[in-house]
Amino acid sequence: MGVDVGGTTTVAGVVARDGDVVADATAPTERLNPGRALDGVVALIAQVGRQVGRRASAIGIGVPGPVDARRGRVGEPVTHVPALAGRALGAELGRRCGLPVFVDNDVNALALGELMFGAGRGARSLVVLAAGTGVGAGIVLDGRLVRGAAGFGGELGHTPVKFDGPRCFCGGRGCLAIYASGRGIAEAARARTAGDAGSRMLVAAGGDPMAITAAMVFRAAGEGDPVAQSVIDETCRALGAAIGTVVNGLNPDVVVITGGVARSLAPLEARILAAARDHAFAPALAATRVVIVPGDKRAGVRGAAALALYEMRERTAKRRRASS
Ligand SMILES: [Zn+2]
Repeated sequence: MGVDVGGTTTVAGVVARDGDVVADATAPTERLNPGRALDGVVALIAQVGRQVGRRASAIGIGVPGPVDARRGRVGEPVTHVPALAGRALGAELGRRCGLPVFVDNDVNALALGELMFGAGRGARSLVVLAAGTGVGAGIVLDGRLVRGAAGFGGELGHTPVKFDGPRCFCGGRGCLAIYASGRGIAEAARARTAGDAGSRMLVAAGGDPMAITAAMVFRAAGEGDPVAQSVIDETCRALGAAIGTVVNGLNPDVVVITGGVARSLAPLEARILAAARDHAFAPALAATRVVIVPGDKRAGVRGAAALALYEMRERTAKRRRASS
């Protein structure tokens, strides 16, 4: 079973060994009350279990933000779901559900899902860049998920693509997330349309700059709005620079660009790849397949289930090594 805890909704699903989501259920995420947050996840797991009429063998859970996966503990702070910050989610849920529970960052789980069931099937190394409200990322190298010393491995959304760029909400400067996240794209458009009542984006937002969304910016750029085009041009170039970093640094078999913004990025694939060519070694880029996979609600569930499968295999391998 896979559980994807998002900032607004939590989805649980039963996933077959071929990656097919057999059944799923969705509930609003309890963001603030720690007790209710756990009850909500337990209820959702029970609901999906009843739908299928079969017991899962393990549960994988993806949560936003850094996670100490070895201890199954959610990092602090998890700004999207404060109720889970610092919780030993793996142990607590394991006790209540009577199953092995594995917890990791949601995009780390997504990377394992793409490797096992998605665009990276058959690959040994893969990097996922997930552009949604923010930009998350996950790295798998030679079949192993890269978690890093403190659970921050794969936070590529906060690598600088412009070292003297504006401050990011993470405290850094010029991060990829400023240019390629839904939030960053909308904020850039708001700043640049300020005072321009005739702006196509402001009109689409009913005159309220705060109502401008990334989707509106992409649409206005497609319709020839020069301000929107300047914002989206930066998005493409920032992604190109990030792909350059990934390709020159890791040269994975596959780079998957996904998340809520990916659907709007798909028509811009040629421009993003052209921008990547400005930064990456040509033979390295030629050996790395870059694919844009529009975000899908079930991808998070599939990823969380892939996490459980991955951890079960790791456990078995460790036991084998210990006994030989
Ligand atoms: Zn940042």
